[in-house]
Amino acid sequence: MTPTYEQLKAQLDRGEILLLDGGIGTEMLRRGVTWEGHKVESHPDAIRAIHADYIAAGADVITTNTFQLTRRSFLNHFRDLAHLRRIGAEGLGGRASVLLREAVARAREARAQAAGGRPVAIAGAVTTLEWCFRPDLAPPLEQARAEHRETVRALMAAGVDLILVETMNAVGEARVALEVAREQGVPAWVSFVCREDGCLLGGEPVAEVARALGPLEPDVLLFNCAPPPDVTRALGELRRCWAGPMGAYPHVGRFDPPDWQFTDEYPPERYLACAREWVALGARVVGGCCGTTPEHIRALSRLRR
Ligand SMILES: [Zn+2]
Repeated sequence: MTPTYEQLKAQLDRGEILLLDGGIGTEMLRRGVTWEGHKVESHPDAIRAIHADYIAAGADVITTNTFQLTRRSFLNHFRDLAHLRRIGAEGLGGRASVLLREAVARAREARAQAAGGRPVAIAGAVTTLEWCFRPDLAPPLEQARAEHRETVRALMAAGVDLILVETMNAVGEARVALEVAREQGVPAWVSFVCREDGCLLGGEPVAEVARALGPLEPDVLLFNCAPPPDVTRALGELRRCWAGPMGAYPHVGRFDPPDWQFTDEYPPERYLACAREWVALGARVVGGCCGTTPEHIRALSRLRR
């Protein structure tokens, strides 16, 4: 465990509230930079500035810009590996590992620039191997284990403080990703997309999360990338079956593939009011997903008083 994470864990153990950052991909869009390709190499200043703005807004944990950044994401554009090698750009097969390293570097640079001695942890984001809103596409679990291991190792080698397994849609893939983090000896938070009825997007009840993941002692269980009321409902379900730390970081707006439609439904003040409900339900980690901005996180910092 890194000294930074140890400090944040002590705060969490005391029941204090930790702030996560807000959206990264959508914040790039808002600032006029498309997020495809993650832009960690081509637009380093834009990525670094977003991380730094979240730190300045009060985030205790910033997440790497590594949403679905895997070897598979590149390979999925081709018939198979031979086809990728035949017609794909030079180095494409290994590009994911290069970009993972670069993404962590941007977060570390932002921390060095903006944290001013405050403990700010870097969470390496690990997402579903296939599209996060399509549980039906999930690969076989042993295949998923090998691929998540590759990502987790790359993020750890680049210097993250914890792994954030996020935007998971079903218990099975989340469990193998958590097992990989445990095997590699890195703290791990696990976050799920939930539905309006309080179940996971893939249909499993929240009680199944506690039953399957509880024995592995995830450091925090969270919900993300669903509208605030859906997350509130899922948190209520989780509280009934899980006594450990919980968290929430819903999205704001509407998905407009491959972009994001920003709406004014949850301006920072209203988002803060929702967050007070999550805290009342027991959440100790709060932040934002797609469509949230540094201003949303700045509003959440008032939860600490
Ligand atoms: Zn999201």
